[in-house]
Amino acid sequence: KKKIAMMTSGGDAQGMNGVIRACVRTAIHMGCDAFCVYEGYEGLVQGGDLIRKMEWHDVRGWLSEGGTLIGTARCMAFYERAGRLQAAKNMILHGIDALIICGGDGSLTGADKFRAEWPSLLEELVSTKQFTREQIEPHKHLNIVGLVGSIDNDLSGTDATIGCYSALTRICEMVDYIEATASSHSRAFVIEVMGRHCGWLALMAGVATGADFIFIPEKPREDNWREEMCGIVQKHRTLGKRKTIVIVAEGAHDREGQKITPEMVRELLADKSGLAIDSRITTLGHVQRGGVAVAYDRMLATLQGVEAVKAVLEATPETETCFIAVTENKIVRKPLMKAVEDTKAVAAAIEAHDFDKAMSLRDAEFSD
Ligand code: ATP
Repeated sequence: KKKIAMMTSGGDAQGMNGVIRACVRTAIHMGCDAFCVYEGYEGLVQGGDLIRKMEWHDVRGWLSEGGTLIGTARCMAFYERAGRLQAAKNMILHGIDALIICGGDGSLTGADKFRAEWPSLLEELVSTKQFTREQIEPHKHLNIVGLVGSIDNDLSGTDATIGCYSALTRICEMVDYIEATASSHSRAFVIEVMGRHCGWLALMAGVATGADFIFIPEKPREDNWREEMCGIVQKHRTLGKRKTIVIVAEGAHDREGQKITPEMVRELLADKSGLAIDSRITTLGHVQRGGVAVAYDRMLATLQGVEAVKAVLEATPETETCFIAVTENKIVRKPLMKAVEDTKAVAAAIEAHDFDKAMSLRDAEFSD
């Protein structure tokens, strides 16, 4: 009987529980044993009670639960070979031969590294006499499949990551609340949303709430952004708007790479010699990760979870490690490392303040 383990890793995202529910039940449906690794890679490294066999009823009701019920963690030990060796040992002790990981690009990079290193980890476990050659024989190949759980929608190669539409919905709900009070007092609100290297949440929240102005990491404003923003806000006010909403992604910069902070924007809107609008800041923070998954994320989690189990069962030693994407509404398998490399290239371009490159990489993603 094949034994498939599944885990959530990196930052939590709405829909992760839906993934685990779908994977556990599909694995059982296909005649396999399902295991959950609790606390991300920490659970693989520590083993013991953090690796648990799951039954059908163990994941009952999980579609409508927020966060991740099997926990997630950042695990320093897994960056080191010694940690991954310990993880390999624990997997063999539990008889696990396939792994499904739901996380961001970091977690998926770790997964790919683990799979590539697997034969040499087994050799080391034999040479250090922790297992005999016969004991490791059934574990010679490790199949790994990735699922992208992230609120940022920052992974290249997929139209939506699991969680991003829930986070976007949360932002819209919060902006709606704020708008009511903004309008009552004729105030401006500068709202900071998540997204260090990816402005998807800020951009889509801007569209979905009809914000007056937005700042995103990939496409800094021109040098005259102050005049531009104040001009637009002024125009909207002249047309009778009683509220002003400016959305700032946490990774927003100007063209020189200087961070644009909510405080800078607020001061500008409040400037007595300029617009002189009563202006406040709201940092949404972890609220964006909170609450239950919206219908789209539940659907994505379920369809992709089913596909992940199929992919892990069909994988051969020759197949490249894949992740499950959604492209033009179709659930598809794609090479994992190409997507991770493309994602890291955008982040590196932003870090290097090469914004033209960042934008052309984003454009290429959408024309793929
Ligand atoms: P998020 O997008 O929410 O930050 P993530 O999956 O990118 O999620 P990370 O903190 O980068 O989050 O990674 C989660 C864990 O994955 C790390 O704590 C570590 O255990 C493992 N990991 C990440 N990168 C690597 C790597 N290069 N090699 C080995 N393990 C890694």
